[in-house]
Order: sequence, then structure tokens, then C-alpha cells
Amino acid sequence: MAEKKEAIVFDFGHFRNTDGYGIRTMIFFKGCPLRCKWCSNPFGLSVAPQLAVNRERCVGCGMCVKLCSKGVNRINPEDHKVEMDFDKCKACGLCVQLCPQKCRQISGTKYTAEQLYKKVQRELTFTRRDRGGLTLSGGEVLMQHEIAAELLKICKRDYIDTCIETSAYARWEHLVEVAQYCDTVFVDMKHIDSDRHKEITGIPNELILENIRKLCEYMSERGKRVIIRRPFIPGYNDEESCTIGIAKFVATLSGRPEINILPYHNLGELKYKMIGSECEVQGLNMMKKKDEPIVRCAELCRQYAPENRVSVGGEAIEYPD
Ligand code: SF4
Ligand code: SF4
Ligand code: SF4
Repeated sequence: MAEKKEAIVFDFGHFRNTDGYGIRTMIFFKGCPLRCKWCSNPFGLSVAPQLAVNRERCVGCGMCVKLCSKGVNRINPEDHKVEMDFDKCKACGLCVQLCPQKCRQISGTKYTAEQLYKKVQRELTFTRRDRGGLTLSGGEVLMQHEIAAELLKICKRDYIDTCIETSAYARWEHLVEVAQYCDTVFVDMKHIDSDRHKEITGIPNELILENIRKLCEYMSERGKRVIIRRPFIPGYNDEESCTIGIAKFVATLSGRPEINILPYHNLGELKYKMIGSECEVQGLNMMKKKDEPIVRCAELCRQYAPENRVSVGGEAIEYPD
């Protein structure tokens, strides 16, 4: 018998109000082909399971040092806390159970589609009454398109509202394989200029723009929605020319997708330290919805995409009754 496909998932979110209609359950898929410098989900970048350690909670008991035969851990004599050589770690998870401070975890667990559905089914039964539902995020969920489609298909069988959040950097066939089971697709536009897009995310944007155009046609023909997210990151994509370019592009798309501006937040900084990597935008100030550059960004979007609704912050998106 053929082995069942498994998803690699690094987190779940519960009772959220920013990622789809009503109250959402979230599943975060591991692995992403982009490297956005401001990424707030560094656990989602690598597809492989990996060790994450909250060093702040460590009391230096040395249990993990004794247990691990790979020589990953040592106690720093200066602050008496653990230091890790993450390159040596095999993510076997042995040290996780043993740590008395519960400061270790393996980020990345395998599930079949049925197992994932069972895990969230109870919550969905409850939130579905108010048209809430399931949102798949990441990482980039399309890197695991087969199992994402399988899971969303089960949800549709049970009349659950479904969304994905994606960069749209994937083969069109993979995007449409998943989108066919979605009520809403959230897709990011990180920069309108392809060279600049490559500088700040690691990849150019031609495929993304082509996919967004096709996706808007595909979804609007079926009475479903695309929401264009415009993350606003000072120093990376905050130029007025970028906002104007995005708005002009969105104005040409089918279905008049809403533009949703997301002010920068820095909630991911600690997570970088936990996996032994560095946050490139360390110290960049969080933005608020009423900050002048955000207000101006919204004005420009309204000016250059006058037929499209413009909102700021995930909770401000308008959903039809
Ligand atoms: S996960 Fe395994 S290899 Fe990695 S530090 Fe823990 S015991 Fe060592
Ligand atoms: S087992 Fe936990 S508390 Fe003890 S040294 Fe290792 S990380 Fe720190
Ligand atoms: S696409 Fe999303 S998950 Fe991937 S690097 Fe960019 S912000 Fe992070």
C-alpha cells in the first residue's frame, strides 16, 4: 500500500480574527522558498524539523549537555546558560522531554491530512457556527500543495470556510490545485519592482505577478475572493513609487480585490535567536495603523486603485454577509 503523504507543520493558531472571515483556526506549514528580510515566522523557513531553544529560560542544569551525544550543547561559563551549535543538531528531540525548564522544542511535526483535520475539527465545529473556519499559512503552504489540497478538500466536504495565505511563488498548477478548495486566498505583494523584490526577498516577482493575475481571474469567475496584502516595511518597501505601482497593478485585476496594508511588526525577533539565526531587521520599530506613512500608503492605494477597497490591519478586512 502506498504511504500516506504527511505535512510538516510548525504551529497552530486558535481563535484568531485577522486571517479570514470570523474566528479562524490556523495551521502553519513549514518551508518557504522566499527569504523576506523582515520575516516574522523564521520557524517556517526551513522545511526540515529543527531544534528551537528559549535560552532566556535556561537555568544551566547541564542535563542536555550530558544527554546529547552530538555535542550540540555546552554551558557558557559567563552567564551559566546553555549555548548550542545548531549545525551539529539532528533534531532527534531527546533533549526536549528532559529539559526541566521546558525551554526546548522541535519545530516541525508530521501529520497526515486526516490527522490534521482531527486535531482542529473540534474547534472548527464550534467556530463554523459564525462562519469562521480554517486558514493555512506558513512558511509557504504551496510547498506542500498536495497535502494542503487534501486537507482543504475535507474541510469543504464539511462546509467549513477555508483560506490560505501565500506568496504565490509556485507553479500555477500547484496554486490552483489548492485554490480550488479555498473561499479566500490572501496573497502578498512585497514589492512591485522585480530587482528590488529580489534584493529584499531573495527572488524576483514576475512569476508572482503572473500568478496573482491568473488567480484573481480564476477566483472571481467562481465567486470567490483574493485579498492582496501589502506588508509595509520601513527601509525595504516603503517607497511611494512601490505603493503606487502595487495599487496600479491591483486596479487591473479581476474581481476588484481588496488591498490590505499590514504595518510592520517585530514579533518574530526572539524566534530567530531560538534557532540560532539572526533577524536582519533587529531593532526596527513596530508601526501602528495611524502612523503617517501608513495613512499616506492607504491614501495612495485609494487614489490609484479607486475601485478597490483599501484596509489597514488584518482585522479591518470587509467580508460579505
Ligand atoms: S535534538 Fe537531539 S541532536 Fe539536537 S541537541 Fe537535542 S539531543 Fe542533541
Ligand atoms: S536542560 Fe534545559 S535548563 Fe538544563 S541546561 Fe539544557 S536548556 Fe538549560
Ligand atoms: S514569504 Fe512569508 S514565510 Fe516566507 S520568508 Fe517571506 S514573510 Fe517569511
